[in-house]
Amino acid sequence: MKYADSKVVFREIPDEVTLAINISNCPVKCPGCHSSYLVNDVGEPLDYAALSSLIESNPGITCVSFMGGDGEPRLIHEFAKWIKSTYKGLKVGWYSGRDLDNARQNLDVLDYVKVGPFIDEYGPLDNPNTNQRFYAVTQTPDGPKLEDWTKKFLKKFI
Ligand code: SF4
Repeated sequence: MKYADSKVVFREIPDEVTLAINISNCPVKCPGCHSSYLVNDVGEPLDYAALSSLIESNPGITCVSFMGGDGEPRLIHEFAKWIKSTYKGLKVGWYSGRDLDNARQNLDVLDYVKVGPFIDEYGPLDNPNTNQRFYAVTQTPDGPKLEDWTKKFLKKFI
């Protein structure tokens, strides 16, 4: 797995200061992809050393979000689990381009998940017509529980 770049962002995960790690080699191939550079095999290897360096060089973050990584979802699971055990209190999100059924395998280690491909005519999360969904994940004795937070992205329209 490689990442093209990373950035601290404020809107991608509501109410969190998030280190977004943009993962390349995206296999989803959405027509009209908004980040075509992430489709290519570009960037640096993402491993535990790179992850800890990224996290520790961004003090003040409350969340780490993997933006992509659908080619290696089990690695996303391993990284998310490691972050939560190594950096107590730090939350973890995953922006997947696939559907919720595909993301279920990782819900036990996530606090947030975005699912759904990018479809130009429906737009991203802040478009009222979006096909994508954003969920907050709570771990319960019965398994991960999802709350649909997609509407939080529409605040600017209200
Ligand atoms: S999931 Fe994102 S990066 Fe991948 S093809 Fe779709 S829009 Fe592009």
